[in-house]
Amino acid sequence: MPNDDVAACDGFELMQKLYPICRSITGDGVRASLEELRRYLPIQVHEVPSGTRVLDWTIPDEWNIHDAWIKDTAGRRVVDFRQSNLHVVSYSQPVQQRMSREALESHLHSLPDQPEWIPYRTSYYRRDWGFCVTERQREQLTDHEYDVCIDSRLEPGHLTYGDLVLPGDRPEGYLISSHICHPSLCDDNLSGVVVATMLARGMLDGRHRWTYRFLFAPGTIGAIAWLARNQELLDRIKGGLTLVCLGDAARLTYKRSFHGAAEVDRAAQLSLRDLNVDHAVVDFCPFGYDERQFNAPGFRLPVGSLMRARHDQFREYHTSADNLSFVSPDQLQRSLQCLQEILYILDNNRVVASLSGYGEPQLGNYGIYEELQNRNSKFQDALFWVLNLADGQHSLIDVAERSGVPFRMVHEAAELLRQKQLIRVA
Ligand code: ZN
Repeated sequence: MPNDDVAACDGFELMQKLYPICRSITGDGVRASLEELRRYLPIQVHEVPSGTRVLDWTIPDEWNIHDAWIKDTAGRRVVDFRQSNLHVVSYSQPVQQRMSREALESHLHSLPDQPEWIPYRTSYYRRDWGFCVTERQREQLTDHEYDVCIDSRLEPGHLTYGDLVLPGDRPEGYLISSHICHPSLCDDNLSGVVVATMLARGMLDGRHRWTYRFLFAPGTIGAIAWLARNQELLDRIKGGLTLVCLGDAARLTYKRSFHGAAEVDRAAQLSLRDLNVDHAVVDFCPFGYDERQFNAPGFRLPVGSLMRARHDQFREYHTSADNLSFVSPDQLQRSLQCLQEILYILDNNRVVASLSGYGEPQLGNYGIYEELQNRNSKFQDALFWVLNLADGQHSLIDVAERSGVPFRMVHEAAELLRQKQLIRVA
């Protein structure tokens, strides 16, 4: 349960706590991470047994690791899991043997172009093992033989994910999802996890119209497990967002849902416009993160994605350079602000209908001009646009898009017209 001593969630501080944990698609690292998040949010943790069929997939065996190393002939740890959990290929099966340098070579991964960085590699669905090392470490492996140990367990267990439902006035609503399966990597995707946590934390006590569901699940298989186990509620999901790479210095990018012009797509684009931040908008493609699963055939949930650095397009991607100094508290905060704006728009978007019959009402009779005296001219624009589009067919998002006036001001104008009983909202 949330700790009342924690007034707000400091995303960067939370990231510092999550950073050292060795996460994978299953195992105690995910559990420990969710436990940390539960200090801020009443997340419900779910365990799905290995071997369970989820859609076309099967929950794999659970992977846990205690220690791993490569020792030289003098017994020194020349590669040490305790120095960085990236050193072991995620899902490596256990191994303990002395082997020749040549035989070891085929199990090593490094980045010749970035000789100081450790790559991040996985072998989830193929039984294998390996070490990820810096090119420098690899160059220093000159002995003929090495002792190799991966003290891991790969056995039937569970896949763990967490979700949180924030009930609104209506049972329908939105899904906010971030993947929680990467080990010590910050932008991809602790940034998504902590921004989601800050967002949810800020909504715990407030009232909202829609029901918001937050999902913290291992990439791909976790999202598929959630979809498989929640099919009866999917018709209440109006759309959603996956949150990824939100702490780096790149401009914000919104990736549209498969639908492309769903309410969430329009709200996200308005939010970026209204906040006046440098940004890009890109079309949906079936690459990237779990938006691929949510938008897949059969489901087609309109889930877009908010990010900064783009998947696979930055040097630090899936390397040890995606660390705490690659992300900043400021960028996390700005990403959060953009999300809050998107949810504000979604929560306050209404269809508007005139109550004054045909034509434009005589505003002087309703005290509207007095209200306009201390407002700027954009507010007046918003007011006339709302009146004009109040035909029961258009929403406040339509007004904001068409008028160019910020959504918040459109909402305020509609609120005034509603108070003056000139329109009703649905
Ligand atoms: Zn990744």
